[in-house]
Amino acid sequence: MNPYNMALKQLAIAGKKLNLNEDTLEMLKYPKRVFTVYIPVELVNGKTKVFTGYRVQHNNARGPMKGGIRYHPDVTLDEVTALSIWMTWKCSVVGIPYGGAKGGVVCNPKEMSVNEIERLTRGYTRAISDYIGPMVDIPAPDVNTSSREMAWIMDEYSKAVGYNCPAVVTGKPLNLGGSEGREEATSLGLVYTVQEAVKHKNIDLKDAAIVVQGYGNVGWNAAKIFHDIGSKVIAASDTKGVVYNRQGINPYKLRDYKKKTGTVKGFEGTEAISEEELFELETDIFVPAALENQITKDNAGAMRAKIIAEGANGPTTPEADKILHTNEVLVIPDILANAGGVSVSYFEWVQNLQNYYWAKEEVNTRLKRLMTKAFNNIYEMTRKHGVDMRTAALMYAVDNVCNTMQSRGSLDKK
Ligand code: GLU
Repeated sequence: MNPYNMALKQLAIAGKKLNLNEDTLEMLKYPKRVFTVYIPVELVNGKTKVFTGYRVQHNNARGPMKGGIRYHPDVTLDEVTALSIWMTWKCSVVGIPYGGAKGGVVCNPKEMSVNEIERLTRGYTRAISDYIGPMVDIPAPDVNTSSREMAWIMDEYSKAVGYNCPAVVTGKPLNLGGSEGREEATSLGLVYTVQEAVKHKNIDLKDAAIVVQGYGNVGWNAAKIFHDIGSKVIAASDTKGVVYNRQGINPYKLRDYKKKTGTVKGFEGTEAISEEELFELETDIFVPAALENQITKDNAGAMRAKIIAEGANGPTTPEADKILHTNEVLVIPDILANAGGVSVSYFEWVQNLQNYYWAKEEVNTRLKRLMTKAFNNIYEMTRKHGVDMRTAALMYAVDNVCNTMQSRGSLDKK
């Protein structure tokens, strides 16, 4: 399913529940601005290749726009637009003062040298530098980007404006104004929401089974945190394969193995199973931590997880949502479950603006408070309105954005 259509479908569902008028819905369907940029990069072979990049700024009613930048060969404008819309809702759900944006560059960083990736990142930053800024739009890491790219963005933007400007981007390395705890924040925030969710499902996380789809930053950190609190990671996957062991997999050793070989596939003491079997495993928690469109009407009915905590953005289609809701699988939706990343990005930005830095305990305490409150708020709404958690989260987020737009006078008060 086209992710933009998916975002529109979700908006329509929330809009109907909220009785939103047509004009308001119409406004929220479109981003405020869309940038398409072409970035010439000199490759190591001496040839020049022009890459296509996007930055979509969806809504800034609640504050400067915020969202990551992904590097992937399958990036499309519709995908980036959907992701920007989800950022607007995500920031609203956890109550941080941002709107939503997202960036993407069509490229395959796995086949590029570090120098090429650096030139691409700097070129992309120059191309959008007039349209981002600490009070306008603040990028961050996403799929295939990390603190390394954020450092280059910070440096290139600082050169453009003529002074050191760490607050233009979050997810930076610590020595450039990054925040303690940012790297594992998405996963830690996700675990905090799961710790609340299990109270309603009679699961003890001390010996719960965990399945992780995707072993990038979010998947690996989630596996690690669950393992450290006593849960058992029984399966993990990446684009090349799936590894399974009912007795539990050591996530640290799996990470080291993946670092060496480039994949989880073939990790000793595990069985290789298919992607289809991964989704059908009997497990307490299933964490999709890869890309969009993973849980669809074709596999949702066969899933035997009790809780799905969405580390990825947009992993579940609206049709699959319906099936999971009927089967009483508790889905903690992306805009809530993975909001820990952007929340610590917010803490990073606040620290940059104040030039005053917090200890890790302070960051994590604040993150726990914020995620727990957001989870309980949305969970209570599911009870009140008889809806699933995604619908409740969307209702809360959209309503919040509309109220702000109304207060500012950018919506008719019909
Ligand atoms: N890319 C992350 C997300 O999808 C983080 C965004 C941010 O920190 O601004 O939420």
